[in-house]
Amino acid sequence: MQYLIDQARDFRARAASYGVDLGIGHDARRPRAMFVSCSDARLVPALITGSRPGDLFELRTYGGLIPPFNALEPTSESATIDHAVRGLGVGDIIVCGHSHCGIVDAAVAGYDEPSVPTSAGQWHTLAQLDQLSAYPCVAPRLADRTLRLHAWFFDVETGSVLAYDPRSSTFLPL
Ligand SMILES: [Zn+2]
Repeated sequence: MQYLIDQARDFRARAASYGVDLGIGHDARRPRAMFVSCSDARLVPALITGSRPGDLFELRTYGGLIPPFNALEPTSESATIDHAVRGLGVGDIIVCGHSHCGIVDAAVAGYDEPSVPTSAGQWHTLAQLDQLSAYPCVAPRLADRTLRLHAWFFDVETGSVLAYDPRSSTFLPL
């Protein structure tokens, strides 16, 4: 914990040394994208995408799970998605799964972690994308092409990122 405290204390100086502009606090500009991913500590969206303050609006849950939309029982996930789409007006949402995801490994009975096929994690990622597509704030924006959804898959061992290609129904290198 002390390491984290020291880093937080030093954040302003570190940001300055990296040329990160912290002066955008009052700038309500639209983020470049929403990034939906697992809470797994090995997956660091800002590092993967080279993002800076203001770039990514994130939703992170265990397994990157997106619950089915239910107007009668709103969830924190649905409120976050609604704010990104209606409030911030993001034009792109990236749903990023990853290899060796605990929730996928647990769901794939009979496999030890190293042998859980990558395709299971990728299928899981696409399932979250499908769930997201059905949200009432998302569906009409997909229909009028003002919102694009992207399925990515991050390999925690190699650091490579794949993106789903609907034409070939496979994940291909970005
Ligand atoms: Zn995970």
